[in-house]
Amino acid sequence: MIKFYNTKSRKREEFIPIDEGKVGLYTCGPTVYDFAHIGNFRAYIFEDLLRRFLSLSGFEVYHIMNITDIDDKTIRRSIEENRSLQDFTDEYVKSFHEDVETLRLLPAHEYPRATEFIPQMLDMVGQLEEKGFTYITQDGSVFFKISEFDNYGSLAKLDPDQLRSGERVENDEYGKEEGRDFALWKGHKDSESNVSWESPWGNGRPGWHLECSAMSTHYLGNHFDIHCGGVDNIFPHHENEIAQSCAATGEEFVNYWLHNEHLLVESQKMSKSEGNFYTLRQLLEMGYSPESLRYTLISTHYRQKLNFTFDKIKSSQKCVNKLRELKRRALLIDIDAEGKDVEKLSSDMLGKFQEKLGDDLNISGALGELFVWVNDIFSQLDNNEVSVSGAGSILSTLNTVDLVLCVINDTCNDEPSEEIDVLIIARNDARANMDWSKADEIRDKLDALGVVLEDTQGGTIWKRK
Ligand code: AMP
Ligand code: ZN
Repeated sequence: MIKFYNTKSRKREEFIPIDEGKVGLYTCGPTVYDFAHIGNFRAYIFEDLLRRFLSLSGFEVYHIMNITDIDDKTIRRSIEENRSLQDFTDEYVKSFHEDVETLRLLPAHEYPRATEFIPQMLDMVGQLEEKGFTYITQDGSVFFKISEFDNYGSLAKLDPDQLRSGERVENDEYGKEEGRDFALWKGHKDSESNVSWESPWGNGRPGWHLECSAMSTHYLGNHFDIHCGGVDNIFPHHENEIAQSCAATGEEFVNYWLHNEHLLVESQKMSKSEGNFYTLRQLLEMGYSPESLRYTLISTHYRQKLNFTFDKIKSSQKCVNKLRELKRRALLIDIDAEGKDVEKLSSDMLGKFQEKLGDDLNISGALGELFVWVNDIFSQLDNNEVSVSGAGSILSTLNTVDLVLCVINDTCNDEPSEEIDVLIIARNDARANMDWSKADEIRDKLDALGVVLEDTQGGTIWKRK
């Protein structure tokens, strides 16, 4: 059973997708007016862990991440630099995708840009207007009328009288949109240069919250499974998304809301506006590896605050090195090696690793299980107790773990071939010794890894099923 902590209920709940075996996942993406900082990447790495875990558990995940390429900040910065909004934001969209690749995040299936979804957003404003949820102000903005929407505040647990956040959520940089009603469509201001689109309510541009409602619904339907973001997104962003979407469609919007805690520096949220941030590029220039940062950000539970220190990155690198060393040692096992098959030990560990992750992504528990196994295997290797098929199962276990952690292999979106080669050597060896049952056992193992063998005159070749 998989359980996630749902911000909506403030409880761990069993995860049951709307369509069996499938998950619709929407994650709030970057605002592209600068390089994403590693605090933002804490959110994206948590979402990557979630996605990889769901895939490992057999779900087919359809993942959408928006790109906010229009808001106060993108407009202001592009004007300051005397560039068109598109030209200015393109640069940071490109660097975002490069960082995603460096940190080995599984790319989303779609990265819709807000500026490409203006018609869908206007449709939604139209629906809300038709149903009486809007009013227009003198400057040509269209506002959402919260008093018309009964459940406003249900996600953030707002005090209904005062409409204040019921818990400590930082929302200073979104202060402009905080308050009772919020803008769906913002009437054009001269200070925003020529950034505007035509609409039935006059020229203007969309409000930030509307972007995510329109784009998530476009790809995932009115009602979908999981929506993620940092805790600063709970209010007002996600609260407003719920109000707009439910009011417009009359349907449920999202079943599970998952929010990550912040990355801190000296007890302050890492943020661009505070200026206390590091980008991935800065850390790489300082000589830290992408996998050490990935491990640092992934290895603290997503709902706990994480204080960023250089000591943490250094100790993460040591953990990564240890896992890689185990792989290297397993690859060195001689094909004649006799000893134990560590398969049961490995499969027990994998079972527990997955079970811990299934408990609201309990990564500390999962890593605890992994490193008990790692230490155990190291001591068996030191005592020459591991057979060649044992080496195969060590490698296959590390590959499975790496489908989630993604810090050991050069590529972790597919299994690398060394393990397969080791198994094929072992099978040839068994066949040479006429140990047919062993040879069959190894063939079955390869079959389970999605590999089919073909014995040709020139030797055994393999391909993926
Ligand atoms: P933004 O580009 O500010 O819209 O943020 C993109 C994502 O990063 C959102 O999900 C934010 O909640 C998240 N985020 C921003 N700062 C931090 C931080 N210091 N720690 C963790 N997540 C963050
Ligand atoms: Zn969003």
